[in-house]
Amino acid sequence: MTPAHDSPLKWLAVSVILLTMPTRPVVPFSARPAVFSQFPGNSQVRTALEWFDSHRAWIDDEQARLTEIPAPTFQESDRAAAVKVLFSAVGLEVSTDKVGNVIGLLRGTNEKEIVVLSAHLDTVFPAGTDVTVHREKNRMSAPGISDNGAGLAALVAVARAIHEARIRPQRNILFIADVGEEGEGNLRGMRAIVDAYRDRLKAVVVLDGSSIDHVTTKALASRRVEVVIAGPGGHSWSDFGIPNPINALVRGSVRFINTRVPASPRTTFNLGQIEGGTSINSIPHQARLKVDMRSEGEDELIRLEAALRDCISNGVRDEMESSRDRSKGKLEWKLEVLGSRPGGELGPNSHLLAALRAADEFVGNQSRLERASTDANIPLSLGIEAVSIGAGGNGGGAHSLKEWYESDGREVGLKRVLLTLMGATGMAEEKSR
Ligand SMILES: [Zn+2]
Repeated sequence: MTPAHDSPLKWLAVSVILLTMPTRPVVPFSARPAVFSQFPGNSQVRTALEWFDSHRAWIDDEQARLTEIPAPTFQESDRAAAVKVLFSAVGLEVSTDKVGNVIGLLRGTNEKEIVVLSAHLDTVFPAGTDVTVHREKNRMSAPGISDNGAGLAALVAVARAIHEARIRPQRNILFIADVGEEGEGNLRGMRAIVDAYRDRLKAVVVLDGSSIDHVTTKALASRRVEVVIAGPGGHSWSDFGIPNPINALVRGSVRFINTRVPASPRTTFNLGQIEGGTSINSIPHQARLKVDMRSEGEDELIRLEAALRDCISNGVRDEMESSRDRSKGKLEWKLEVLGSRPGGELGPNSHLLAALRAADEFVGNQSRLERASTDANIPLSLGIEAVSIGAGGNGGGAHSLKEWYESDGREVGLKRVLLTLMGATGMAEEKSR
């Protein structure tokens, strides 16, 4: 933190946001002088913020340790167990729910309301991927080191800083390491959390990756589907002429990739995985295709999914019509929805955004609002205030084996997370502890 950040004015700004964000109506501007008398609360915040400066090595080490515990989507339990130990060590009331989320509760003075700070446990890397962390100078390299090693490290660091500083929030805080964020996890961890706490849930802060120059406040609607085409199958020579599922899939796919999508609302599609067949000299009995579709407008998604069905249906028809031997059977196809993420948007006047903006100002950060598909989709789609933010430092190569992370300046991101969280929960006065 630079000296300028310690100026009384900055502390006043933070203090105002901390003491006006909570459960009761916002304290009117004229009440500012009263805020001065509540400064003791801020000495705890200051202690917590300083904890990040003095524990860089601990945070780096925990990030590396957690990253080296494999956690493919649907196989997060080992990493979850490690987070559970860290949560317990800082006095949280820890539990695991039925889908495998680790939940650490810090009770506030107002238990009727809850704020969630979460980071997803899972990675896109399949079991068996070498997740050894290689350290060279200030750089750590490993699959998942940034997404979401950085988020998990921040989650446990913020929990520990709050514990060390003996901060008591107004609203209950749930620290959550959740499952199933990536790919076909379909946000199942966050869905379970929102389901369980929906009535009391006031805000959700999602930590994902490193970057602090953007804030996801708009949930990108997406749909993920799998197309399966099945046929009789046979020998490449002796059965030549029977309908071939791969041919049909290719015919349909070529039609689909010519589908026009609007630039606004921005709409995208990706043919991400294609598989089928058993050997080079066999006519396959099955072909599969996975498609990811995203849009700023949910109507476009509906249109795009309909287009895909149409194209595959036509591809199958073309293949059937051009086959010269239909005696062994015909092609069947189906389209299965693997995942569907709803859209939604955080209002410009929300308390959570105000808290984040105040935190940004305090740490001297500038961030722009973006739309993306994250765990925040679930609360946002239900009108619950939520953001997804990075945890600080620098990272790159997400979802690749060359993923890397550098923790220089990470403290800025961690302070921003802590201040945003405290802004969203409010702080109990010291005397009430
Ligand atoms: Zn992530």
